[in-house]
Amino acid sequence: MSVLVLADHDQGVLSPATARIVHAVAELGTVDILLAGENIAAPAQSASTLAGVAKVLTAEGLFVADSLEMLLSTLTVRYHYVVASAGSVGKDVLPRLAAKLDLMPVTDVTAILGPNRFERPIYAGNALQTVASNQPKHLLTLRASAFRAAATGNAAPIEAIDTSGVSSAAKLIASHRTQSETPDLATAQIVVGGGIAVGSAEGFQLIESLAKKLNAAVGATRAAVDAGYAPNDWQVGQTGKIIAPDLYIAIGISGALQHLAGIQGAKKIVAINTDPEAPLVKLADIALIGDLFQVIPQLIAELDKIGLKR
Ligand SMILES: Cc1cc2nc3c(=O)[nH]c(=O)nc-3n(C[C@H](O)[C@H](O)[C@H](O)COP(=O)(O)OP(=O)(O)OC[C@H]3O[C@@H](n4cnc5c(N)ncnc54)[C@H](O)[C@@H]3O)c2cc1C
Repeated sequence: MSVLVLADHDQGVLSPATARIVHAVAELGTVDILLAGENIAAPAQSASTLAGVAKVLTAEGLFVADSLEMLLSTLTVRYHYVVASAGSVGKDVLPRLAAKLDLMPVTDVTAILGPNRFERPIYAGNALQTVASNQPKHLLTLRASAFRAAATGNAAPIEAIDTSGVSSAAKLIASHRTQSETPDLATAQIVVGGGIAVGSAEGFQLIESLAKKLNAAVGATRAAVDAGYAPNDWQVGQTGKIIAPDLYIAIGISGALQHLAGIQGAKKIVAINTDPEAPLVKLADIALIGDLFQVIPQLIAELDKIGLKR
């Protein structure tokens, strides 16, 4: 069996999600990685070091969803599995490829139970579904945070592929990126999340200060995002990002089901809340009952004392 993994990369850096996907699919067969896009020399080099990778294919150029789907469809004939992370690129490209090949994609996979059995959460993570697929090929998106990363130390060959027949009906006019000093939410080891109780965008600066001390990413509830206290891309939950940090510090967050759907992979949860009956307080490994506007400055002062600064 052979597997093609579509790598995620940005600004010349391979996403940590790709190492997790490679580890997850290693038992399915021989794994090749496809790196498509601009500025891919360094990420291709990183991909070649991942244990279990047989070959890294590179396609240099600007790809949007339809051209990436076209590129993948020319390669798919060689593979039994085509796998991407369930991030923005994978969610955009894999369903297009599935439609083209008349296959059913299996999305948001959190466990691979066998060559054609995959587990995925449904109902906002309140139930797990096992999908058995008897299709000739499998198109999968994987929730990278559910898997461990592959080790490094490999030196797989890197091979440029011909993209001359690939075209696109779409044209990229401009892209705008959010500038952030904090790590990426989806892969951060520590996340500090704020809820509606933070009260304002200025209040979120307090959350950001704590996050900076801990080298953590900042998350928010939908209520805080809807109120305009935090940007859209900080939203964690069913309709936001899925996170799986080692530590999640939830500040002024009640723990609605839709928020919990995004934090099920968190290994340890600390809740800071005035309400001892809040669902997230009950779920947390450690709960600090108190007013966030008193607790957070104290916490920052204590971190300063022990010299835990960025
Ligand atoms: C279809 C759908 C999708 C949704 N998707 C998402 C999603 O992806 N992500 C998401 O987060 N939500 C989502 N929601 C919204 C979700 O249902 C909740 O409304 C939201 O998560 C609540 O946010 P919150 O915890 O900030 O606010 P609240 O539920 O109002 O909780 C505020 C908490 O702050 C505490 N508090 C108050 N003052 C203080 C203080 N001074 N110090 C400390 N604690 C204090 C309170 O005790 C309370 O527990 C979705 C809803 C729907 C219907």
